[in-house]
Order: sequence, then structure tokens, then C-alpha cells
Amino acid sequence: MLYIVATPIGNLKDITLRALEILQKVDFIVCEDTRTTGNLLRHFDLHTKLISFNARMEEKKINSVISRIKLGDTCALLSDAGTPAISDPGVRLVNMAHKNEIEVVGIPGANAAILALSIAGLPTDSFVFEGFLPQKKGRQKKLKTLAEEERTIVLYESMYRIEKLINELNEYMPKRIIAIGRELTKKFEELWRGYPNELLESLPEHKLKGEFVVIIAPINWK
Ligand code: SAM
Repeated sequence: MLYIVATPIGNLKDITLRALEILQKVDFIVCEDTRTTGNLLRHFDLHTKLISFNARMEEKKINSVISRIKLGDTCALLSDAGTPAISDPGVRLVNMAHKNEIEVVGIPGANAAILALSIAGLPTDSFVFEGFLPQKKGRQKKLKTLAEEERTIVLYESMYRIEKLINELNEYMPKRIIAIGRELTKKFEELWRGYPNELLESLPEHKLKGEFVVIIAPINWK
């Protein structure tokens, strides 16, 4: 059995009872950073064995995890925060589990994109999740394509490029309302809303540090 376990994206109280139960009972946990997950486990006084894992996780390691599960061990896959395999490593392991007829069970919980959508007040009946835009090559092309997108758009962005992104949205989609969720579930969480030029004007009042989700309303939506 392979469990895909969501963990908090900031506020540790967002762990679910089911996640705690599974993290205690599995034979081992596959996680991105053993220090980050180690801190989470310590906070909840759990002592399950950890194995590290990353996006470039080599075939050999995936195979050894799959072999252990096939021999009868149970495993939980975690990322540093939020839902594993969503803009995070894990897809290849989950795919291999299915190919090996291992049962895969999801333990739902925090996800930054869905949380931001739920508080942004922008249309959610149909949306497209783009995760992180390419950092350099292909970024402008992607923005041009997204400018034609009729659905709500959801992006992740780092603090190093958030100002650049708002400037780009002002250039490519000036007439779309955007909502930016910063540091969601954390002590200084904020939600900014407005047209890109309005957000640029108020930027000096805002902190550009932390983690960001950007939601872009459909064209002509007011
Ligand atoms: N798997 C995670 C999830 O379920 O949300 C996403 C992992 S992705 C590597 C990390 C990005 O998610 C951050 O750069 C940021 O864009 C977004 N994010 C994560 N936590 C956040 C938070 N507390 N507030 C705002 N955005 C957050």
C-alpha cells in the first residue's frame, strides 16, 4: 500500500487526524527533505523511518521503494509541504506503483492552489493550473498563450520573481483582475486583489517575501 499524504503549507494545525494516523502506522516514509519532514514528525512525536527522495529520483531508488512495498511494507509519500506530486516530486513513484498493481490511497489536506482559489472570490467553475511558469526560456511565449486563456488561471511564483510576474501581467493581461495569496495559513498571511497596475502601485506597502499563489480572473470578468 502506498499512501500519498498531504501535510500543512505553513500552519501545523492543518495536519489531519488521518495523516497523523497513517504517518504513525506506515513502515517507512518517502519524503523530499528528511530535515523538513523530520521536524514535522518531531512536532507530533512520531518516529517513523524516513527515506529521502527528489524530482530526479533515480530509477534504482524508485525500484527499491516499489520492491519493499511489494514485499509487504506500507509506505507514505510526503513532500516538504502541501499535497505531494502537485508541483512537487512523486508522480513517477505513483505511476510505478500503479504499474506494479500496488494500491495507492490519497490522504487529502492542504494545497496552496485550491486554498487560494477558495478565498480569491474569482470564478472557480473552470480553471487551469499552470504551476510555476518557466523561469527564462519559454516564459514570454507562455504568457502570450495564457493571455488568450478564457478560464481562471492559477500560478505558483517564488518571492524572487513575484514583482517581475506582476509587471508581466500588467503588460500581457492588464484588464484581468488578479488575486495574490501570500504566506497562506501562516502568521502574516495576506490576499491582494486588483488589476495588475493597481497592485504595482500598492507594492511598496506590501512585503514581497514568502510564498505566493497568483490567481488570474477570466478575460472581461468584473
Ligand atoms: N505541493 C504543494 C501544494 O500542494 O500546494 C506545492 C509545492 S510548490 C514546490 C511550492 C509553491 O506553492 C510555492 O512556491 C508557492 O508558490 C506555493 N505555496 C506553498 N505554500 C504556500 C503558502 N503557504 N502560501 C502561498 N503559496 C504557497
